[in-house]
Amino acid sequence: MNEKFINTRKILSALILISAILVLAAELPADEGMWPLSELPRLNLQEKGLRLDPALIYDPSKPSLLYAVVEVGATGSFISPDGLIITNHHVAFGSVVAASTPEKDYLKNGFLARTRAEEIPAAGRTARITESFQDVSARVLSALKKNMSYADRTRAIEQQIKKIVAEAEKANPGKRAEVAEMFPGKTYWLFLYTVLRDIRLVYVPPLAIGNFGGEDDNWMWPRHTGDFTLMRAYVAPDGKPAGYSEKNVPYRPRTYLKVNPEGAREGDFVFLLGYPGRTYRHLPASYIAYELNVRMPAVADWYEWQIKLMEEFSRAGREVALKHDSRIKGLANTMKNYRGKLAGLRRLNYLVQKRQEEAALQEFIQADPKRRALYGRVLPEMDKIYGDMGLEYPRLFVLENLRRSVILFQNAMTVLEAAIERQKPDLERNAAYMDRNFSQTRQRLILGLRTNFYLPTDMAIFKELLKRALALPEARKIEALSRLAASGPDLDQVVDNLFKSTRISDPGFINSLWDKKPEEIRQIDDSFLKLAGELYPEYKKLEEDNRARKGQMDELQARLVDIRQEFLGKQFIPDANGTLRLTYGRVEGYEPGDAVYYRPFTTVRGIMEKTTGHEPFDTPPGLLQLISQKNFSRFINPDLDTIPVCVLYSTDTTGGNSGSPIIDADGRLVGVNFDRTWEATINDFTWSQRFSRSIGVDIRYVLWILQDFAGAGQLLEEIGIK
Ligand code: ASP
Repeated sequence: MNEKFINTRKILSALILISAILVLAAELPADEGMWPLSELPRLNLQEKGLRLDPALIYDPSKPSLLYAVVEVGATGSFISPDGLIITNHHVAFGSVVAASTPEKDYLKNGFLARTRAEEIPAAGRTARITESFQDVSARVLSALKKNMSYADRTRAIEQQIKKIVAEAEKANPGKRAEVAEMFPGKTYWLFLYTVLRDIRLVYVPPLAIGNFGGEDDNWMWPRHTGDFTLMRAYVAPDGKPAGYSEKNVPYRPRTYLKVNPEGAREGDFVFLLGYPGRTYRHLPASYIAYELNVRMPAVADWYEWQIKLMEEFSRAGREVALKHDSRIKGLANTMKNYRGKLAGLRRLNYLVQKRQEEAALQEFIQADPKRRALYGRVLPEMDKIYGDMGLEYPRLFVLENLRRSVILFQNAMTVLEAAIERQKPDLERNAAYMDRNFSQTRQRLILGLRTNFYLPTDMAIFKELLKRALALPEARKIEALSRLAASGPDLDQVVDNLFKSTRISDPGFINSLWDKKPEEIRQIDDSFLKLAGELYPEYKKLEEDNRARKGQMDELQARLVDIRQEFLGKQFIPDANGTLRLTYGRVEGYEPGDAVYYRPFTTVRGIMEKTTGHEPFDTPPGLLQLISQKNFSRFINPDLDTIPVCVLYSTDTTGGNSGSPIIDADGRLVGVNFDRTWEATINDFTWSQRFSRSIGVDIRYVLWILQDFAGAGQLLEEIGIK
């Protein structure tokens, strides 16, 4: 054999090997998981497609990508050395509403600061950077003593956590500490954060871009929403976090994301860093039954009722509409998400699946006397807890929603509770009233009053809840509300009197109450403060019942996780809990149903197709013109021969991942996550490679809008796009 032949054979077999590896890599499925960063080493991301050294994502000793990601209500990321943050339009929504008036309607028309001096405060917004985390489980759990009641167990853990937090903040001046429950009853981590408090709006697209498609398209694919906004973080001239001041200077992040103007291609590996809120994957079938049959349908209907009411009032004009825009958006988002989950759970027959898994698990437990002794009661006890919760729900619904949806009642309760709690030593107070949180609690209340309060809405919601309270079965009636309802000839009169005899909508009045003692508050002749006083014991009882339930659930959940891991031979990762996580996947489409395939990119062509001229499909004329003239500049996607708008990928995300950077294999920003598909709303309970897709806005659309629609070349330059 001549040498040339041998070489060719070697090369050939090497090529076959390489292409086999490539094919394998392309077919490697994405994985379920919102991974804590401590798990990075066991993920082998490089085998899955990452080209970057994983240590550059997270390594405490290096300026890793971790420091480029911020929590801003949901998620955002730094994209310039001068603290420029990219997040979603819907994440910054509340701040844009707060800055808007009918005359300067930034929400409707958008906003661009041409210079840094023109950047305006994003009211109520902070940006939190994760600095470090550490396992403190042993210390938290050491607070538990044998024979404690369930409520005392919860209280002991709460106290211990507060102590750990106080010590950590003392040892790390200027940092914020939080202990997060990772696996309830099992593992707890201490996180340290830097909190930047002067955040300003830099660019907000008009509503017809940032919220294009509105609720019709929300949680849907194909999508054409330019759901992004730019903000900037400022600090004091000495570099320390500080509240708003003209003297403040842009924050210089340790790392920021480089933008890849070429975006991603179908099949590319991508990963997201972000702050997913809550998932419930380690809870039992009885919990799913409770959500499916009791809580979610009730909440979805209630939110729909409120939305209709608010839309009705909003017809009065822009000033009134601005009071409701943010609330409607939040309610509609949750309502549609719940409807998606209900449909998804039914489609997958998930409850039955889960019950089957649990029946097999129970058999496994019963088969061994030791296992039976340790775990035999876990599932039956959980069944009982969720069964009882279902029975109590209608009463809970009234109490919870009075506090959540009636702004004046919420204010009155906060004022009264503050007076009571602030009598106690700091570490014994409810979190909202501890010194470290109290000024934020006050500010939030005043901001909510200013931006979201509309008297007729508050009155109508109150009246509806009062009606529902009166319809409760006799044994579950809420006495104070029954008495109130009986105090006038009819409910309209009762509600009128209540709202006429209060000053709790006046910020000046509220601010005069913060330093008062509980006895003084109770003596004030104000209808809402009086009602708060009468209902206070109900809320205290609820709090105590929740503590007891949590104490019991913690113990059961910890055991359930242990035995399920043993049974399934798997090592779980903790449910999402608002702490920093990584998820990875590929740019890929999916089949939502028979004979339908969804491709992973939408383009500006779809904007033209959807535009009707009416909200939420009322594309600005300037954008229509750019599209029809095919003015696509360098951000065109050569494969599609046009500008991509949104992109789909198989990552594992939930609420809170809004605004998460979509990062390519080289660590560059290729889009901003903002939603999930209809089928993926069930991610909170379970994830599926077939159906779970996240939705992001493509970076090319962002850059094109900034450059060609907004004329914000200075921002492109700042983020390094020459
Ligand atoms: N659109 C979502 C949200 O509002 C993001 C998600 O849940 O995936 O949080």
